[in-house]
Amino acid sequence: MKLPDTLLKNRLDIEKGINSLIGGGVSVYQLMLSSTSCGCVGLTLFPVGLKREDVEVFNDMLLPQLKEISKGVGVFPGAIVIQTRADDSEIAKVKIQRLCKSCKIDYKGAEGKPWPGVYTLQYNPTDDYQPNDNDFLVYRSEIEGKIRKMSGKLVNVEELGVFVLSCGCSGFLAALSGLKAGDITGKDLSFFKKMSSDLGIEPKIMYAALSYGTDCVSSITSKNTCSICKVKYEKGVILPDLVL
Ligand SMILES: [Zn+2]
Ligand SMILES: [Zn+2]
Repeated sequence: MKLPDTLLKNRLDIEKGINSLIGGGVSVYQLMLSSTSCGCVGLTLFPVGLKREDVEVFNDMLLPQLKEISKGVGVFPGAIVIQTRADDSEIAKVKIQRLCKSCKIDYKGAEGKPWPGVYTLQYNPTDDYQPNDNDFLVYRSEIEGKIRKMSGKLVNVEELGVFVLSCGCSGFLAALSGLKAGDITGKDLSFFKKMSSDLGIEPKIMYAALSYGTDCVSSITSKNTCSICKVKYEKGVILPDLVL
């Protein structure tokens, strides 16, 4: 099964798992497999309607399911962490991470509350995993090098990932800093398309998002749109900042 298809199935399984535990009302609108420039690799779910108090039922029931799913996509579950929204009552992200050296220290700190709004549910950083050629860390560094070469700028790819949405869209995303809109307009981005295809996403649209009110590129995305979003893009209901 291709990675996006696996993630689409996982997304649905996790959503069902959560709703069967807490009686419904939660959607997992996005699931993403990604690596970050610090050296972590992780699976992140983005729920809507999940309260912090709901995690009390997680430990016995949901966490084993999340660990299985993360191992299935090559992520050793070194830590399971939740991040809340601004008022601290609703959960914005659940992350299952194979921790880098520095995050191993950070997530262990402050009795499982390393930063405001971040709670470590499980912590087991005992792996001595070595990255291989198919590792997302390798992809992140490769794409960073290619964007630097293309633009001549010292770009930092902060996160590189494959994501799926509840509507059925899938995509390949590089969140970055150090790049301006003028650095990529009209440039050859076939390397980005190729890596996207290699990971199972045939892009129907490619675009860059700009930081609000600036010409700084915050991310580049290639997306295999679902049938509904495809029409929304075509009709201009969704307007990407910069179509590539
Ligand atoms: Zn890290
Ligand atoms: Zn869609």
